[in-house]
Amino acid sequence: MTSSSSNSKRPPGTDVPAAAASPEIRPVTALRGVGDALAGKLAKLGITTIQDLLFLLPLRYEDRTQVIPIGSLSHGDRAVVEGEVQLAEIAFRGRRQLLCRIGDGSGWLTLRFFHFSNSQHEQMSRGTRLRCFGEVKRGPSGLEIIHPEYRRVASDAVATNEDVLTPIYPLTEGVQQGRLRQLTAMALREFANRSVQDWVPPAVLAQLELPPLREALQYVHRPPPDADLELLALGQHPMQRRLAFEELLAHQLSLRLLRREIQRDPGWQFTVGEPLIDRFLSTLPFKPTGAQTRAWRDIERDLSQSSPMLRLVQGDVGCGKTLVAAMAALRAVEAGFQVAVMAPTELLAEQHARNFTNWLEPLDLYPALITGKRTAAARAKSLADLASGEVKVAIGTHALFQQEVEFRRLGLVIVDEQHRFGVHQRLLLREKGLASGRYPHQLIMTATPIPRTLAMTAYADLDVSVIDELPPGRTPVKTVALPENRRDEVVLRIRDACRQKRQAYWVCPLIEESDQLEAQAAEDTVTALAEALQELKVGLVHGRMSSKEKDAVMARFKEGAIDLLVATTVIEVGVDVPNASLMVIENAERMGLAQLHQLRGRVGRGAAESTCVLLYRTPLSEVARERLSVMRATNDGFEISRRDLELRGPGELLGTKQTGLMQMRVAELVRDADLLPKVQEVAELMLRENEANIAPLLRRWIGQGERFGKV
Ligand code: ADP
Ligand code: MG
Repeated sequence: MTSSSSNSKRPPGTDVPAAAASPEIRPVTALRGVGDALAGKLAKLGITTIQDLLFLLPLRYEDRTQVIPIGSLSHGDRAVVEGEVQLAEIAFRGRRQLLCRIGDGSGWLTLRFFHFSNSQHEQMSRGTRLRCFGEVKRGPSGLEIIHPEYRRVASDAVATNEDVLTPIYPLTEGVQQGRLRQLTAMALREFANRSVQDWVPPAVLAQLELPPLREALQYVHRPPPDADLELLALGQHPMQRRLAFEELLAHQLSLRLLRREIQRDPGWQFTVGEPLIDRFLSTLPFKPTGAQTRAWRDIERDLSQSSPMLRLVQGDVGCGKTLVAAMAALRAVEAGFQVAVMAPTELLAEQHARNFTNWLEPLDLYPALITGKRTAAARAKSLADLASGEVKVAIGTHALFQQEVEFRRLGLVIVDEQHRFGVHQRLLLREKGLASGRYPHQLIMTATPIPRTLAMTAYADLDVSVIDELPPGRTPVKTVALPENRRDEVVLRIRDACRQKRQAYWVCPLIEESDQLEAQAAEDTVTALAEALQELKVGLVHGRMSSKEKDAVMARFKEGAIDLLVATTVIEVGVDVPNASLMVIENAERMGLAQLHQLRGRVGRGAAESTCVLLYRTPLSEVARERLSVMRATNDGFEISRRDLELRGPGELLGTKQTGLMQMRVAELVRDADLLPKVQEVAELMLRENEANIAPLLRRWIGQGERFGKV
């Protein structure tokens, strides 16, 4: 199944003309009073069927079940009042406006309209009873409501109250709340008559004690007056959880289907030729860790299958993902294929190129570096060698996607720090491989560890391996947080560390508006530190330097010719200098946990005890304080990401480009995380036993909206 669209017109098993069809597929125009204009506005909100209206869920509720005596109102109240019109007149106070005064015996109130029709005015004759709702404000002549929602009530009628809480729908351009309430009321009635399909198997519903869908929808659209408003506001009412479950299930299913689709694509089955990997491992001064070996076994198995691999390797900073990537690359080369290694930044691409070159040269393999910044001649040569198949391993930035980059036989794509890339970019590279007739295998590496259930939800289209062990001999980094006014002490620490032949980083604050200012700030810091630490060799890298300049500085730092490296956050990902044992981060209070953890991961790569100093400016916000204390408390990337998730939510953590998860209507990944294991289980069950129900379920929750992944 490529997209739900082909199935959207008619759920399986329905074979009836549209007019008599289920509201699931009947257009909104079938509702009374919905013409083309309104339908057009609704379509912009993704609402085309009656069912879509039902799945436009309220954001919050207001209690309008009680009519409040006018005399007891005060400024700021949102209230329902009822009173008799005493006076209605058109006035010109700067602007033409309709003023209507109502009273109920306990007091009086002005209703003020700037937009109104003559008939509105005419209907407000003296003595007419009006029921109004709105926000009460202090006006020029007492309390008033501007543009209240109102209706006339018969003067002799017993005051009938709203018997349900009033739903407030998401803001929808050009469609008023009142109209939306009418529309959803009609949609609810349609479903009451025909009943809305529960695509979740009844056995599952019974087992989880989930209420029927229809009941849940009725409840969330029109909660009874005694409903627990607080629970509803938190999104934790059982009726909301019922819907959240179904929504999470739909998302899970869509990713699973995507994955199945990819697995059905033709891929390359790598057969081992010349045993390069053994030769490679024998040249290394260390042995792979158990966790590295386990990840490699997963990969090795995938590569020997004829369906394309799609595997994510998660592992904390410094766990040695690059080694595993190199082994995978060698397997591809052994089998006669080319490999593309893609990194998110020039610096990182260059570092990978250096690593791979060191590792592969003894095996007579010479990787090519493809970045935007290389000279035309060097680039042309690399491109020609790639196209001819002479070069087996290409390492680069997103420059690898460019059209002129051609491979002779691309068999494996390795993507480092994938959260920096959108799914789309990844897929582009996949398409490049297709030039040779089949899809390349994909290996994705990330140091942004995310909790398991979340990973299984966000990456349900991927297989996941986790490297949960650091190479031996590492000592955990000690982390301290110091206020800015203790900078001098920090400078002394640098002197101490460098006396012991260790090296240090000093990270300058990120200046988002301008990398010019950021570079300037870094230059000022270098000057000040060089002044204070005259016996040390101080270097500088920042984002405005050419890659050649950066490269030269990094190389000198790596060989020990620079003691203290002042840097902007360009060094955030991946940079590897094991002798560096001190990391100072300025303005740490402005950085997120993931970034701090990445930066800190630059030290603690050798056997010596390393320290990370977080310099902060006061006053600290609550969140900043919390972040610094998390950093002090733990070095564990998984724990940090769990806390990060709590502090920021999944959107930031995963990157919004990453998933369609952010567009969920009721579910929230963090809040509803406890549902996820069950969601996965039910998804598997449905894929096995209820496949026909999946398409209508996706249509319901995900609709025709853009699906991420292979489109
Ligand atoms: P990351 O997972 O953060 O990308 P790297 O691949 O950069 O980590 O590896 C970090 C450092 O650990 C590198 O210097 C690398 O050579 C070294 N390393 C990797 N695997 C091992 C191992 N099994 N034993 C010792 N050192 C290792
Ligand atoms: Mg890395």
